[in-house]
Amino acid sequence: MKEFQEYDVIGYPRLVRLNPNIPWKTRGNGAVSIRLGEGVGKKFLIGEIGNEKYYGYSGFKSNDNISMNDAGKRLEKIIDKYAFFDDRNTNPAFVVMEKKPTQGLYWDAVRKIVNLNDVKKILRQNNATYHGYKNKRGLIGATSAISWRPKDKTYEIIAYREKKKIGSKRKINGKSVIKMDKKFSFTFNNYDYENKKIVIAPSSPCPVLFGIRGNKPDLIKPMEIIKSEKINRWFIFETNQGTDEHLQKKKIGNINAYESVIAKGKILSKPKTIQGGHVIFSISENNHQIDCAAYEPTKNFRNLIRELEKNDFVTVFGGVRKKPLTINIEKIKIESLADVYEKIIPSCPKCGKKMKSIGKNQGYRCRKCGIKTKKIQTKKIERKIKTGFYEVPVCARRHLSKPLKRF
Ligand SMILES: [Zn+2]
Repeated sequence: MKEFQEYDVIGYPRLVRLNPNIPWKTRGNGAVSIRLGEGVGKKFLIGEIGNEKYYGYSGFKSNDNISMNDAGKRLEKIIDKYAFFDDRNTNPAFVVMEKKPTQGLYWDAVRKIVNLNDVKKILRQNNATYHGYKNKRGLIGATSAISWRPKDKTYEIIAYREKKKIGSKRKINGKSVIKMDKKFSFTFNNYDYENKKIVIAPSSPCPVLFGIRGNKPDLIKPMEIIKSEKINRWFIFETNQGTDEHLQKKKIGNINAYESVIAKGKILSKPKTIQGGHVIFSISENNHQIDCAAYEPTKNFRNLIRELEKNDFVTVFGGVRKKPLTINIEKIKIESLADVYEKIIPSCPKCGKKMKSIGKNQGYRCRKCGIKTKKIQTKKIERKIKTGFYEVPVCARRHLSKPLKRF
């Protein structure tokens, strides 16, 4: 970061998550944008590399000395030095723009599939300085991250590992994570109490040691509570994580693959558990239907889904996979529960013994006395679940999913 010393960072660096259903994305489909300039106003700590502190400014003044070409050249050097070009799925890019592109680009990139040529057109129209490596798809993420206008927003402090530790098992004390989680209620997705899992640390062999997410940027104190291996550097990011901005309300008949949707419908039949432990059911609306799934990694959430019955009315929130077209449930709102009845086997009016079924819808007969009855009695079953919102456990949550804690 030394290369940037004579530019100030305006605001916080931004970590923008884009459509989580894109098949060719790199891991969390994240892009970073940083506003550089000459800072004015309030100055605040945004990060540390070694003992060197980095600050952001609340405002900026126009300065003609800032050259986009110069910034581009420096970025190129940094990317050449640090990017992992060998990974098949990484397609880095950088974009330097004086003016933000319209926010429509962000909304498309977080909810749909954006065409690279459309983005190149935007870059040319805006006189941007840019470079896309390999298949150049990184340009989509970079440009979209710049176009984000935070409305709902959260923050994440990311602590990075020492270079020599990358790839080895992370050392993080679970008790300290629980302590931090309990002390700072404005943070979220820290620890999965149900599955006893630390959620602040990724499982991939990346440079991130852990990240703490919160509704406020005051995340330095929470970070200091975590007992872990040495933190090499850290930064606070402003993000769209935990906002549900990837979701859009859709009629079941209009749902496309790779979108994330909020869809309402009536359950067609009792959910089934299929091979691999996934639980599947279909919902319908106006003669259209779609499958919904609670996959194995959602653990105990599946027990709730298994309690659903035919004719229950639900709103499902989740990403849509293509084959077969299925909503991968992130959250569910049980709107109403259907009345469910079970048949009661009648007792013989003469001898009191349980009667036997003669056949489907044929009634019952006492084997001893031969007395028949056609009257079928039913009893209403008491449902084990209640209406309301339910979400997958912390360990199975997507970056963009809004935790119920934030509702
Ligand atoms: Zn009898």
